[in-house]
Amino acid sequence: MELIDNYLHVEEYCLLLLDKSKKTISVKACHGFAESEIKNVTFKLGEGISGIVAKSGKSILIEDVSKDKRYLHYKDKKKDVGSFLSIPLIIKGNEIIGVLNVHKKMLSGFTPGDVDLFSEIAYDLANAIDKAKVYEETKELSMKDDLTSLYNRRFFNGNLEQEFVRAKRYNRTFSLIMLDIDNFKVYNDTNGHLKGDDAIKKTSKLLLKNIRKSDIIARYGGEEFIVLMPEIDHKGALRVAENLREVIERTEFVNEKAQPGGNFTITAGVSTYPGKARSIIDMIDYADKALYAGKALGRNVVCG
Ligand code: GH3
Ligand code: MG
Ligand code: MG
Repeated sequence: MELIDNYLHVEEYCLLLLDKSKKTISVKACHGFAESEIKNVTFKLGEGISGIVAKSGKSILIEDVSKDKRYLHYKDKKKDVGSFLSIPLIIKGNEIIGVLNVHKKMLSGFTPGDVDLFSEIAYDLANAIDKAKVYEETKELSMKDDLTSLYNRRFFNGNLEQEFVRAKRYNRTFSLIMLDIDNFKVYNDTNGHLKGDDAIKKTSKLLLKNIRKSDIIARYGGEEFIVLMPEIDHKGALRVAENLREVIERTEFVNEKAQPGGNFTITAGVSTYPGKARSIIDMIDYADKALYAGKALGRNVVCG
């Protein structure tokens, strides 16, 4: 967008990107008019000029927008006059990912040379957007666990480090909960690994649903999870852990009757900074020790 800005002296332009699953294109960025007004304006494929271009993959040049009924003025959010060029953003030869719209206040404002030039820009733009997307997706994948889509341990450790530094510097508190599914080996042996995987997924969804947005949850190991709770003291953390334990206890899991105790359950251990824990290793260690104390007590409990 900067490139268009600096070199081409176009008054107004706008970028729309395709949402493949919804079969729509939406305004993602624009220049020269109030972005806030038309940001996220969405067209179905085939709707309006942008929709037609996104569907057909062919550019459309309009000499006078007031005379073309197909032009929808961004669903009446942008009452404009002049000429208009809409170009598809195409990658890998045939995959349409969006549309670049260029507006000129002058009627018949585009020369044939302009059309070629903007087509070349659209080509570069499409490739840049594609690269950025791949980068974001790769980054996302490297942070997340495949089975549960929770954060993985490596990503979590980075967050824990940050939180620890922050808490230490500003004298703040934070807590950890370490959770482990009870007798999961039995569950696997009874139901098979695939049903075991389903149970891990179900557990992770329930845990995620029952913590706050500001908390970070990760899959720490096979059937182990960890929750980082900024600004939560020991009492608060015990309460959250107890609630998570209860949620899993109450929820029915496939064939849970065959588990020892006839229920699918978890055990949790809690640690809080500041307290006995002086380092990150301490924090993990205390949560882990509390968890194993809970296992020794007979499982399906919270310790800390
Ligand atoms: P405890 O109550 O003491 O935690 O007993 P447990 O049986 O849950 O603990 P243990 O550590 O003996 O067994 C954990 C089991 O979890 C063994 C391992 O095969 C299983 N497991 C680990 N990761 C996965 C996974 O991704 N999918 C499945 N299906 N099983 C897993
Ligand atoms: Mg276990
Ligand atoms: Mg375990």
